[in-house]
Amino acid sequence: MILLSKISEIRSLVQEWRQKGESVGLVPTMGYLHEGHLSLMRCAQKECDRIVTSIFVNPMQFGPNEDLDNYPRSLERDRELAEKEGVDALFCPQDGEMYGSNYQTTVRVQKLSQGLCGADRPGHFDGVATVITKLFNIITPDAAIFGEKDFQQLALIRQLTLDLNFDIRIIGHPIVREADGLAMSSRNKYLSIEDRKIATCMYTALQKARVLYREKGEGMPSDEIEKLAKATIEANPQCAVEYTKVVHQLTLQSMEKVTDDSVLTLAMKVSGNVRLIDNGFLAL
Ligand code: AMP
Repeated sequence: MILLSKISEIRSLVQEWRQKGESVGLVPTMGYLHEGHLSLMRCAQKECDRIVTSIFVNPMQFGPNEDLDNYPRSLERDRELAEKEGVDALFCPQDGEMYGSNYQTTVRVQKLSQGLCGADRPGHFDGVATVITKLFNIITPDAAIFGEKDFQQLALIRQLTLDLNFDIRIIGHPIVREADGLAMSSRNKYLSIEDRKIATCMYTALQKARVLYREKGEGMPSDEIEKLAKATIEANPQCAVEYTKVVHQLTLQSMEKVTDDSVLTLAMKVSGNVRLIDNGFLAL
């Protein structure tokens, strides 16, 4: 595996592969790799001849009071893990390589960047859309793999790929969970031992919501599901709900009534500072 930090270097490498007729898969990450990321790499390997994983903690997608400076980083460990998964190139640019001193351009996916995490993190999805557009232009992959854990992000990337005519196949990968149901996340590292146990409440909320939907069936009011999820999470005094919303899987618009297209989306803060998200279809 080759480690590259310059845009010109990764471009040349991809060009070499292309000349040999090889296809290229991209797995964008912010590093501190876990099994969720690794499963995306395995998926990329099935789809493409060559795999690029990017590790870039994108400053543009962090708000002023967010965890940019504290975001966990561990390049040596990431390097070993990616190599074991058969990644061909790890692209780890510095901030200045991606955003020059006169940088001015932002990509915005108008509707899908609003609501849910977009409401709690203003500007976040502009940062995501911009960096993904740049990575698509730099690496020109045939396919790019994203986790369903970041459901809104995946929907937004599908839309920007369509809107900006990228000839890239966007592949969504199911959420990888810990044994107790907590969705894997680099941010789980911030949780104290006590909070780590409690954090499973989002998965419990999702499972309870699924049981209720199974009992009541299509057409039941979404707010019953949303209230149940909120109460389940907030039964733990350390947990504050940011949102529990039933949305349509494609538009991410709120739904008054639940259908088999409904996804329950969840966000909470644990002990005031660790922000975690989860989601899942209500129909299983
Ligand atoms: P991040 O490093 O958090 O920006 O995530 C990089 C990619 O990994 C994104 O496409 C995420 O959706 C995906 N990802 C993160 N956690 C998981 C997980 N638990 N299961 C599946 N995909 C994940």
